[in-house]
Amino acid sequence: MIIAIDEELCTGCGRCINSCPTSALEMKDEKAHLRDERLCDGFGSCIAVCPFNALYIEEREAEPFDWSVLSEIDFEKFIDKLTLHYKPVPLKESKE
Ligand code: SF4
Repeated sequence: MIIAIDEELCTGCGRCINSCPTSALEMKDEKAHLRDERLCDGFGSCIAVCPFNALYIEEREAEPFDWSVLSEIDFEKFIDKLTLHYKPVPLKESKE
């Protein structure tokens, strides 16, 4: 199971690229593109942010997610994205 992009639907808005904590996606010819399948953790944050339903999961032979590739390529960017986009949501205070 791995992410796939429907290029007919992709407008190149870039939301998915910004949302992917592992930087598995990049822009190529004004379309989202899977940069390295070993960087796709299958978490699906890109699917959630695409307003055009251009992303989906497909079942095919793929390289498994590999932390070592992430740390070789851009571990610093991964940490930056986590701290920027994935802040815990504070619990609502009880009104008792
Ligand atoms: S969020 Fe959707 S439309 Fe925007 S670049 Fe990604 S796949 Fe394309």
